[in-house]
Amino acid sequence: MRFWGIGILLSLLSLPLSALTRTDYRAVHGMLSNGWVVLRAWSEAGEPRCLAVDPATLEVSVVSGNPDSVKGEAPQKSTYELLRTAVRERRDGVQNAGLRVGRPQRTGAWLTFDLCPSTHPLDRDLFRDLETDASPLPVFLEVSGRWMATHPADLSWLIEQRDAGLLEITWVNHTENHNYRPGVPLKENFLLLPGTDLDAEVFTVEQRLLERGELPSVFFRFPGLVSSPELVDRVLALGLIPLGSSAWLAKQQSVKNGAVVLTHANGNEPEGLEILERWDHRHRPDLFTGAWHWLDERDWVGAAPPAP
Ligand SMILES: [Zn+2]
Repeated sequence: MRFWGIGILLSLLSLPLSALTRTDYRAVHGMLSNGWVVLRAWSEAGEPRCLAVDPATLEVSVVSGNPDSVKGEAPQKSTYELLRTAVRERRDGVQNAGLRVGRPQRTGAWLTFDLCPSTHPLDRDLFRDLETDASPLPVFLEVSGRWMATHPADLSWLIEQRDAGLLEITWVNHTENHNYRPGVPLKENFLLLPGTDLDAEVFTVEQRLLERGELPSVFFRFPGLVSSPELVDRVLALGLIPLGSSAWLAKQQSVKNGAVVLTHANGNEPEGLEILERWDHRHRPDLFTGAWHWLDERDWVGAAPPAP
């Protein structure tokens, strides 16, 4: 293993994620001496901290030390870089850039639930229902900062479900404001609205999660699934991996092996949840025998889609 020679003291063993104020929160790129990729750095009560990802497994951790002089790139054949390359190769167009499918080792699909800003409560009954499929049930929750700010009890409930061993949550960044202007063409809407500060949209959600003692994952979902090739490049440059979808259920796309399934659990898409529950109930025998799985973050290892 190469050592980049700046003497970062690594303590990957669960640093307490306290509610102390973070200052100077910023993007950083480079490898730690243990081969992890640094994504962010900040100062917390005067102590340097960083957020790093294991490029082999996508596991994320908060690490002590100042990473400002780190260098290097993750191995091209690592899970992290293979997935990022797959996204880079499919970034044309204005909608649904990012990972839409994977090639998992197990038969199944990834469940992703968008938590865009909403005046409705979280669809808790949906999670209670699906939790009988697996313990814990792996879910990718695309969380917006405005949803977190306006649904503190629902957010706490999700964390409690996770702590009780019922959910395995991968937090996916869905931006702070999730801005949208009705009537504006897609190619100028959502994150493409003039004046959008991408760094602030991304970093604020990450800091909200850290403030709650949660770890942001490397995954990102574009609001409205709307982006441009240039915007995809900027999200990749922040070290993130955009998730698209091949199975937006409310749009009549179907669940298939390796699909990234998209529904909204924020009360705005009851028809999508109904389709998901019907599909799920029909396939419960397969879930119980292991012929079908709801996939987790580790199932992305070795699952990068082939070149288009
Ligand atoms: Zn959304």
